[in-house]
Amino acid sequence: MTDPLVIACPECHKSNRIPADKIGQHPSCGACKARLIRGLPFELTVDTIRPHLQADMPLVIDFWAAWCGPCQQFSRVYEMVAAPFAERARFGSVNTEQQPTLAQSFQIRSLPTLAVFYRGQEIARTQGAMPPQHFHRWLDEVLADTPFSAPS
Ligand SMILES: [Zn+2]
Repeated sequence: MTDPLVIACPECHKSNRIPADKIGQHPSCGACKARLIRGLPFELTVDTIRPHLQADMPLVIDFWAAWCGPCQQFSRVYEMVAAPFAERARFGSVNTEQQPTLAQSFQIRSLPTLAVFYRGQEIARTQGAMPPQHFHRWLDEVLADTPFSAPS
C-alpha cells in the first residue's frame, strides 16, 4: 500500500488524498482541518454517505434506532472496537429513523445491522448485537479480504 488513499472527512465529508504511510500520523482534513483518523464512529446521512462509501478505506456502518435496546448496548461495543481499528476501517452510524431512505436503499430489516463497504461495494453484513471480542473477530475476518488485513 504505497498509493495515496482517498478518505472522506468525518466532519465536512470532503474527500482527502492521504499517502498510505501518513495514515498513522494524525492527518487532518485539507478543507476543515478536522482529524481524519480518529477511531470514533461518526454519523452518516443520505447527503454525506457517498464519499465515505467510495473511499479507499473500508467503511463499517452500524444501522441503529433509538428505540432498539440491543442497538444501545451495541453502540458502546462499536465505539470500543472502532479505536483499535482506526487505521484499518472507517466507522459510520446511520440512524434508521432519521434516515429512512438509507434504511430502505440498504434493505435494513433488523436492528442493529452491521455492514462493511469497500470502494463502493458491500463486502459483508451481519445482524444483531455482539460482544466486543466477537465483533473484533468478525471485522478481522472481513478485512482479511482487503488490503487492510493487518494492523499497519
Ligand atoms: Zn473536513
